[in-house]
Parts: sequence; structure tokens; C-alpha cells
Amino acid sequence: MKATVYHGTRDVRLETVPDPVLSAPTDAIVRVVRAAICGSDLWFYRGVTAWTPGDRTGHEFIGVVESAGNEVRSVKPGDYVMAPFVSSDGTCEFCRAGLFTSCVHAGGWGDDANGGQAEFVKIPNADGTLVKMAPGMEQTPQHLASALALTDVMGTGHHGAVTAQTKTGGTVVIIGDGAVGLSAVLSAAKVIGAEHVIAVGHNEARLELAREFGATHVYNSHDANVASEILELTKGGSPSVVEAVGNQESMELGTEIVRPGGTMSFVGVPHNVTAFPLRPLFLKNVSLHGAIAPTRAYMPLLMERTLDGSIDPSRVFDLALPLEQVADGYAAIKVILTP
Ligand SMILES: [Zn+2]
Repeated sequence: MKATVYHGTRDVRLETVPDPVLSAPTDAIVRVVRAAICGSDLWFYRGVTAWTPGDRTGHEFIGVVESAGNEVRSVKPGDYVMAPFVSSDGTCEFCRAGLFTSCVHAGGWGDDANGGQAEFVKIPNADGTLVKMAPGMEQTPQHLASALALTDVMGTGHHGAVTAQTKTGGTVVIIGDGAVGLSAVLSAAKVIGAEHVIAVGHNEARLELAREFGATHVYNSHDANVASEILELTKGGSPSVVEAVGNQESMELGTEIVRPGGTMSFVGVPHNVTAFPLRPLFLKNVSLHGAIAPTRAYMPLLMERTLDGSIDPSRVFDLALPLEQVADGYAAIKVILTP
């Protein structure tokens, strides 16, 4: 089969590798139907974070079960399934609490034998990892793209809105106009039903999409007055803030515009946060809530909202390429790949 292999900074290649085989009775093999390139893939691609040369890449994918071990009960060959970006056993204390990313048997995609930007992936603990698509999700390319968004960015944006304590009829500020920030806007506006959804970003096209996703106010983060303008708009700060970037500036902005007694969630993977502004959070009695999203827990609700037309997460993808062009995709923003 073909799979994407990392070789070094700005060097990923689609290569022929051995087909995966079932090695445990709880494994399944999934034929990938769509995969994505994640913002976090770009960090190692650009050499900011480490990745082992020779290892596979990709942790956002959906597909069809090709084969399953004899202890797998929840899915069978032919089923359309989604895989969250972390595998889980589905049975431990944390899985039972819905915190699948803290599973005691949690595993990632992307080692020397497995990655999502490929034609096939071996799924460990298939019952505890895969979520079967609801009827209809497999029907159109648009629904497949939405299902793919649910494996990571849409679930992560939703987690940000939820953990920032965003209320129906309430106010929330979302910092970041990448796929996760846009997904947080969509969740706050269309799933939770916040009344004031304030988006902060720097890309005009993406801020326009934020408006279409339900943002009621949009600010450019390069505007020097952005904090004071949001403080004025919210009459002293927002009770909920979602930080969806992961850098020092966005953490500082969030700290500045969060309302006393409010909650700030941070779902952007922290990369260059060097001095966390603890003192202002202390002085304002702000609750801080991370972070890594148990996207598996949100898949049923978000599938339902996609199928009833409330949300269209597929719109976060701005480029579609065949898997053969995966290396070109790493140079773009948010890509959907078809094997
Ligand atoms: Zn578990």
C-alpha cells in the first residue's frame, strides 16, 4: 500500500510500504477514504518540532473497515468509521468518563508502521477507538469531509467552546482563525447557541468564513486596539474565551479580555508560550481549562448536528488533493486527501 513517510524538514514522501495485518484479536484494518493534514503536522514539517525520520504521518482519517479481529464487536467489515486522533481502549476509568485522550492505553498515529495519510491503517482497540458513522454521513463528499473534520478540528473547537463554559445566549471570544478556531465559532454559534460570538484572527478570508459560521463580531488581531475594543464591546471582558492558537501573544490577549470570574480554555497546542501570564489570571479569578480534545466523545452529537443541517464542518477544508500529492498539501493550510 501507499503511505506518507517523513524524511526530514519539508520532506514527506508517499511511498510503497507493507500492508498492515491484524496482530491482535481487538485490531481492525481500515481502508482510508479521506485523510487530512493537521496544523500540528506542519510544526514537524517545518522543523519546529521533532519527528522521527522514517515514521509515518497523519492522525486525521476516516474510512471503511476492511477486516476485524475476532474480538471486535462494535464494527464489522464494510462499516464506515471515524478514528479520533488518539486510540483508546474504551473501558478504563478515563474512557468511561469520556476523557478518551487520557486513556491508560492511549496510542497515537504516526510511528514506523502506522499513519493516517495512507491507504490503510491498523486500528488497535477497535471497539474503544472507532466510531461508526450514522446512516447518511457516508453519502456525499460533503458529509465525508464533515466526518473527517469531526476526527480532530471540529471536535477540538467544540471542546474549546464547551470547556470555556460557553452558555446558550451567552458571550464568547474565540482567538484564532485556523480550522480549530473556526470550528469553535461554529460550535459556539450553532451547537451551543451563544448570542455574541466574537472571532479574532488575521486572515480576511477566514474571518469571513467565521462570519458565515455565526460570528457576530470579527476583529483583526493585528489591530493594536483589539483588546480595548473587545473590552468595550463586552463591557469589561468576556465570560468565556477560547484560545485556539497556542502562542504567547494569543495567551496574553485571552488573559487581557477574559472577564473577572470567567473561564479561558486553551485548545491550541502550546508551541512558544514561554511566560504564562498567571498573575492577571490570579487577580481576575479566572479559571483556566485545557486542552487536548477527546473528540471521540463529541462525535455522536456533532454527527447529529451535521446530518440535521445545523453545522457544515466540511467548509474548514480549503483544498482537496489526491493522496499522491500529499507533499504539495503540506505547503497549504487545511487539506483533505483522497487515496
Ligand atoms: Zn481507556
